[in-house]
Amino acid sequence: MKKYIFILCAMLLPLMLSGCKDEDVSADKPLVYTGFYALYDFASEIAGDNADIVNMVPAGTEPHDWEPGVKDMAGLNKADIVFYNGLGMEAWTDKALSSLENADTVFVRVSDGTDIYDSADPHIWLDPENVKIMCGNILSALCSADPEHSEEYEANYNSYVSELDELDNAFSSELAPYKGRSIVVSHSAFGYLCNAYGLKQEPIDGPSADSEPSPDRMLELVNFIKNNDIKYIFCEKLVSQKTADTLAEETGAGLLYLDPFEGLTQEEISRGDNYISVMYSNLESLKKALMQGE
Ligand SMILES: [Zn+2]
Repeated sequence: MKKYIFILCAMLLPLMLSGCKDEDVSADKPLVYTGFYALYDFASEIAGDNADIVNMVPAGTEPHDWEPGVKDMAGLNKADIVFYNGLGMEAWTDKALSSLENADTVFVRVSDGTDIYDSADPHIWLDPENVKIMCGNILSALCSADPEHSEEYEANYNSYVSELDELDNAFSSELAPYKGRSIVVSHSAFGYLCNAYGLKQEPIDGPSADSEPSPDRMLELVNFIKNNDIKYIFCEKLVSQKTADTLAEETGAGLLYLDPFEGLTQEEISRGDNYISVMYSNLESLKKALMQGE
């Protein structure tokens, strides 16, 4: 009996070892880490199957306050490329940049070259025009790390840019009747979206979604909702809905989701949601809210 167990182990051992070795990464593909889900999605669109892409922030977690643990730092150290947004979106990057031991890891600030009109607002990807520039930065980095697949990266980039143009056109034409109108949102993530399509945001919370409004601000918001005939308050899946609920109760307004695409829940990931699908459903929510307020 002992002999058979020994033979079985001897047969399984090489399998087990090779399984461990190739479990996370394939040696020939660039290993890419991304600062939060939007960047993971953009990098995946352009890389296709040619890179191993890891999103640092776990599913269902709001990324503003997230910090990498020891395991994440070890992972970063192995990465060929790290895509981060900058503009204060990932507070941990300064620390990570200085403590990394692997000098070959390339950090790419994908917001470089985008149209930044408010340096205190990191949510630049909510304007599809900016996403095209962000994807251009992702494309350059992938082509430098893996020139062999440049043509595929470029083809993926071009087809994604057409999808982004289509999305941008849909937003422009369908929101055109509502220029100058205000929307009440859970945190001030929608400045770039509003700026692109002629809307104004009235945020319950600031750009980092980490505080609750004071009683004075609550009163101000209640009055704003009543005076501007706001029929829906926008909330988010990854941010507490408590304040939005209270405001809805006080004013009789309804609640709708408007997703800043900072992260997705596991359910949304499994269902195949992405930037394009989330933005189209945002467009539907916006139209519903703005149409009702007329
Ligand atoms: Zn945010």
